[in-house]
Amino acid sequence: MYLASAQRYQSMSYNRLGNSGLKLPAISLGLWHNFGHQNSQEDMIKILCHAFDQGITHFDLANNYGPEPGAAESNFGYILSNYLKQYRDELIISTKAGYTMWDGPYGDWGSRKYLLSSLDQSLKRMGLEYVDIFYHHRMDPNTDLEETMGALDSAVRQGKALYVGLSNYDGPTLERACAILKDLHTPFVINQNRYSIFDRTIEHNGLKAKAQELHKGIIAFSPLAQGLLSDRYLNGISEDSRVKHDGRFLHESDVAKYHSAIVKLNDIALSRGQSLAQMALSWILRDGQVASVLIGASKVAQLNDNLKALNNTSFSDEELRLIDAAC
Ligand code: NDP
Repeated sequence: MYLASAQRYQSMSYNRLGNSGLKLPAISLGLWHNFGHQNSQEDMIKILCHAFDQGITHFDLANNYGPEPGAAESNFGYILSNYLKQYRDELIISTKAGYTMWDGPYGDWGSRKYLLSSLDQSLKRMGLEYVDIFYHHRMDPNTDLEETMGALDSAVRQGKALYVGLSNYDGPTLERACAILKDLHTPFVINQNRYSIFDRTIEHNGLKAKAQELHKGIIAFSPLAQGLLSDRYLNGISEDSRVKHDGRFLHESDVAKYHSAIVKLNDIALSRGQSLAQMALSWILRDGQVASVLIGASKVAQLNDNLKALNNTSFSDEELRLIDAAC
């Protein structure tokens, strides 16, 4: 039987999502990779329990995480019921719908039909009565925003989600969505977007500034650019890396493209007394505008490396300039 560490709240910091009452750990864990049917259950248990022992109270999922789609939720549900169940009220569990999930016209995008049936399926796979956060996973250019936001609102009214979030939205669409959700009195608290030293889209598409202005939280996904912003690919591509074992979205060509920047950034990190992964996470947390960095991990050692990022999240102007110049 698993008993969580009594010290689990001693070193993690927790940041408020905008003006809401909800706080997230500065480092959260996502189950996009490493929690599919091909992964070892023993490794998944070790990673989740170790994360919780270190104060990581937030686990992020989506209907389609696997492979195959749904597998991560099923695996998480098993581990939750066998290891973490007694800590349910200490956990923030999120899921999403918005990408292709099942065949036919009702298993994709942002219709009310899709979102609400997908949430029912997710709850079933995870063995939960409710999730803490339910996200719309991506903007849908063909469905009225009122319909999609209405579906998120219904999820809350039905008691199946405590809060709602938007993922992969841009600044202007966030603003329109936020107005609708405000009218509905829906507890919308968080934006989930890709953000890293290598991908600064949210600084250019208005999302980061608008979230701040509207007092909504941001959680940054793929903060390590799927491992590129670590020492993973510094000296070649090892057999157990994501590129080799699950290269659905990360390829050898990405390593080649970013390698010279990785080398330069690694030197800057060392001069700060950090690993590159630690510096990459600190960089996101530097200005207090991002509540949490949403990492992935294939090993407990990676979690431990990444957690040390919290020891130093301030940067001199010169360090920031050198980081920009290295990219
Ligand atoms: P990261 O950028 O943190 O990449 C994680 C990967 O980097 C790990 O699986 C591991 O890869 C490697 N890694 C992590 N730490 C270290 C370390 N210290 N040293 C060396 N290598 C390391 O995040 P992800 O891309 O995994 O995304 C995180 C989460 O964000 C997802 O699980 C999901 O919850 C969310 N997400 C949301 C999306 C959305 O559209 N809303 C889209 C994508 C992700 P390796 O296998 O090589 O060991």
